[in-house]
Amino acid sequence: MDFELSDEQAAFRDVMRDFARRAIKPVAREWEHSGRYPAEIVEQMRELGLFGLLVPAEHGGAGVDAVSYAIVFEELARAWMGITGIIGTHSMATLLLARYGTAAQQQRWLADLASGARRSGLALTEPGAGSDLQAITTVALREGEEYVVRGTKTWITNARHADPLPVLVKTEPGAEPRHRGMSIIFVEQGTPGFSVSKDLPKLGYKGPESAEVVFEDCRVPAANLLGGEEGLGMKQALSVLEYGRINVAARAVGVAQAACDLALDYAVERHAFGRAIAEFQAIQLKLADLATEVQAARLLTWWAASRLDTGVRAEMETGMAKLFASEVALRSSLECMRIHGGYGYSTEYDAERLYRDAPLMAIGEGTNEILRTVIARQLVRQKKGEQP
Ligand SMILES: Cc1cc2nc3c(=O)[nH]c(=O)nc-3n(C[C@H](O)[C@H](O)[C@H](O)COP(=O)(O)OP(=O)(O)OC[C@H]3O[C@@H](n4cnc5c(N)ncnc54)[C@H](O)[C@@H]3O)c2cc1C
Repeated sequence: MDFELSDEQAAFRDVMRDFARRAIKPVAREWEHSGRYPAEIVEQMRELGLFGLLVPAEHGGAGVDAVSYAIVFEELARAWMGITGIIGTHSMATLLLARYGTAAQQQRWLADLASGARRSGLALTEPGAGSDLQAITTVALREGEEYVVRGTKTWITNARHADPLPVLVKTEPGAEPRHRGMSIIFVEQGTPGFSVSKDLPKLGYKGPESAEVVFEDCRVPAANLLGGEEGLGMKQALSVLEYGRINVAARAVGVAQAACDLALDYAVERHAFGRAIAEFQAIQLKLADLATEVQAARLLTWWAASRLDTGVRAEMETGMAKLFASEVALRSSLECMRIHGGYGYSTEYDAERLYRDAPLMAIGEGTNEILRTVIARQLVRQKKGEQP
């Protein structure tokens, strides 16, 4: 057993770290506070090939392993977590197409999505249903060679830039069990009846937009139904959510590492009672916990990612990584702020951004409450000797 990255992965991490340090960190505080869209960073991410991380090489992507995928999210989030949102659900959309798309769908969209010429997101959540996705009410009803989509999705990251946007819908609203009536349909920008109705104001995760989108008798070609077959949407969405959990876990590791770095820098610099506060045991205990927990979160994330690389379903492992790492990010960002004393509360320091960004990781890609139920269900299945 070797807990180190391969030479290739380590070199890739160095490239990502250098990019984040040069292109993101210097502008993060100002752009985040002003609400400015990070267009220049997006352009550089395109040049680095970050929109094609999960696109197979035959469609022009990088097709990286899941550990390298995690490394990208950790390094970007260490500089500014919001930036990771631009490639998070985009990557999941590309994975949906690569895994389940028809040859024609792959041909039509994947190469452009890999280069970043087109971008995407993932529309699952609705005003009335988030954790309970089978309760969604957005429908896509077949009429000839089209589906007519009606409904509202909310909290959709990248909604204004996503073209096409995969949307989880009910193609057979009365089906039992409910998931049998669910499908994913790709909706292109400019389709009449598809609009972004509002941007949602939020605590952190600034950079990418989070928006509500509306479908009013929106007619979408039947050829845009993912895989060309109805009833598979829930299964398709759940399978890519495993990668989503790795990206969220890795973002959390990045935020926790940034909290650890800032806390250590400040503790060494700041003096009280005639000495650096790092010399007080109360502060040392916090620093030790920060460093220990972030390393544990990182190793758990790499382990879960490496399980995905073996090609098996890793619902429990990716759930554990996301659950643990996001709780570590929450604790770390709070401790970092406390070590900064009053300055931690100031918008002139970065500690407060980490504190505002951390909670999202406990909510997105399955809330931590839901993930605990997923992990427990798998444990019970394993105990009974059932297949995961
Ligand atoms: C900034 C941001 C960006 C987002 N981006 C996207 C996106 O791009 N695409 C997208 O589709 N969605 C996105 N989301 C939505 C996100 O995935 C949902 O908010 C999340 O899944 C929770 O759903 P909900 O908000 O409806 O909460 P609910 O499902 O209503 O849950 C409310 C509370 O009840 C708990 N709860 C619910 N059911 C159970 C249960 N069975 N057992 C125990 N506890 C339970 C939850 O854990 C939570 O604490 C985003 C959200 C945010 C805040």
